[in-house]
Amino acid sequence: MAIKSVLKKISVFILDIIFPIYCLGCGAEGKWICSECSEKVELLKKQACPVCGVESRTGARCFNCRAKTELDGVIAAAAYFGKERKESLVKKAIHIFKYRFVKDLAEPLAAVITRQLKNRQIAKPEKSIIFGPYINDKIIIPVPLHLKRFRWRGFNQADLLADNIAKYFDLPLEKSALARRKNNIPQVEVRDRRERMKNIKDAFICVDGAKVKDKIVILVDDVATTSATLGECAKALKNSGAKEVWGVVVARGG
Ligand SMILES: [Zn+2]
Ligand SMILES: [Zn+2]
Repeated sequence: MAIKSVLKKISVFILDIIFPIYCLGCGAEGKWICSECSEKVELLKKQACPVCGVESRTGARCFNCRAKTELDGVIAAAAYFGKERKESLVKKAIHIFKYRFVKDLAEPLAAVITRQLKNRQIAKPEKSIIFGPYINDKIIIPVPLHLKRFRWRGFNQADLLADNIAKYFDLPLEKSALARRKNNIPQVEVRDRRERMKNIKDAFICVDGAKVKDKIVILVDDVATTSATLGECAKALKNSGAKEVWGVVVARGG
């Protein structure tokens, strides 16, 4: 164990010499997102109904959309785009995290989520999904990848975010209850909203109902575009008896 961690440190040290890391925000050497830039990431002040986008104080689905999704709500931490649709630091970081396979970005990206959840809890403790009532009934579940895609990428980005969030809030993490049975094409490659719904339909299955029964599930993903993916997860989880299903994501948009 000790040797392994020493070797890891040596290899990180060597890699840092060959490929030094620069902050994606300011270019300072050493970290992918330096602490100064991390603190500067602007949190979304307004949440929205995950289906129609109407403003929602808590991120809960609105009254009109209750029949359209099993998802109780979504909390997004930051904006995908900055002013004038300029690419935000968060968008850049998510892209590199997913497509350049930089696992080290999980921690700073999860930190944006935990900061948002923490702020909301200070503002409205009774409305907080993490700290509100029934604290013992909450579990964290990452949106699963299909095995083929998992093998291709080598990791599930939602898993790594969920690890960090569960650790931070000391909540139980459940990775084996929900599975992806359909290897659909990535939602980001499907333009039309209706096509996206079709693409993801019935993609998930709850394989261990006992683990989610009567639980308030906090689903973790990197980005929610139409919330169709989170909605399908929620459907599978509620079919197995989950009491509530909330999504938490780094960013909304896509
Ligand atoms: Zn920086
Ligand atoms: Zn709505």
